[in-house]
Amino acid sequence: MSRTTYQCTCGAVLEYKQDLVSDRGTTGRTWKCRQCATPVPGIVAEKIGHQHPS
Ligand SMILES: [Zn+2]
Repeated sequence: MSRTTYQCTCGAVLEYKQDLVSDRGTTGRTWKCRQCATPVPGIVAEKIGHQHPS
């Protein structure tokens, strides 16, 4: 399986669920960078959210 990673504007590489913070707002669930709280594109975050270090 291929891994999805996302490099945030702050330089953090988001790879696992714990690298993201989920936020429930009025428009649904959004994901943010754990380091700087910049929103992460949902389609990317959903993939990362299923990845765990093993
Ligand atoms: Zn960030």
